[in-house]
Amino acid sequence: MDSYRISEFNPYTQSTTEEDKMLNEKTIIDLLKKAECDLPEDVESALESAFEKEQNKIGRIQLKNILDNIRYARENSVPLCQDTGILRFYVRMAKGTDQNEIRDIINRAVEKATEDIPLRPNSVDSLKRDNLGNIPEIEFELTTDKFIEITAFPKGAGAENMSALAMLTPADGLGGIKKFIIETVKKAGGNPCPPTIVGVGIGGLSDTAMKLAKRALLRKVGNPSPDRETADLERKLLEEINSLEIGPMGLGGNSTSLAVHIETAPCHTGSLPVAVNLQCWADRRATVRISDTN
Ligand code: SF4
Repeated sequence: MDSYRISEFNPYTQSTTEEDKMLNEKTIIDLLKKAECDLPEDVESALESAFEKEQNKIGRIQLKNILDNIRYARENSVPLCQDTGILRFYVRMAKGTDQNEIRDIINRAVEKATEDIPLRPNSVDSLKRDNLGNIPEIEFELTTDKFIEITAFPKGAGAENMSALAMLTPADGLGGIKKFIIETVKKAGGNPCPPTIVGVGIGGLSDTAMKLAKRALLRKVGNPSPDRETADLERKLLEEINSLEIGPMGLGGNSTSLAVHIETAPCHTGSLPVAVNLQCWADRRATVRISDTN
């Protein structure tokens, strides 16, 4: 990866040496440290405005604790939560880039970051339940861009466990979609550590809908869908969710969710898959872009 240099965002170290600008293990360790210890500005500012608006006394205390926690983690470079998550990476890269090399760099970096940051070794064999350390999940996407973009997206179990998929029928329509999303948030209650971000994927095959729901969480909080009707649906769902009185950490109040993000894909004329992926208040993500200097 010698021809690639960090061009846009070396989020943590702001290093100036040539070696540190290359895509290597340190790039990924820095990226993970940024994601784990420094909540993105858009999420923090949405939590601040929830605190300003929250009327429920216990809800306000919870939000204040969350905001204090965010500042403490940033100032002391410590993880925002004891559950440092399953380490999902999204890699966008040009055709012809060596995928195996990127995978190796990420694998080695995750092993080191588990010791250095430190991260809780969260991966286990799913049947035997033996601990495996941290095994990153990497989703690659080919682009025509002349850069590699890597996003670290640690995902905690409390929120991930509340994921749901419904294979609705076209006859269920918009009413069925809304009902399923609201019911999923209601059923989740305080388990996903609200205020949450509600990721929704509509369309495609069953796995497409789930993927879209998770990818919807990568959008900045406060950025509505570029499609007007979808944006309108996001706004109405958010209002309804925040009237459920689940509140911060499930202890009551109007700040149940900070945003609803919907992504869609075409689907079979006989299908209407809808997936929900919830994200907790610790909406951790960091991105680095590395440009090809050739
Ligand atoms: S759901 Fe999020 S905030 Fe809650 S314990 Fe898990 S990672 Fe931490």
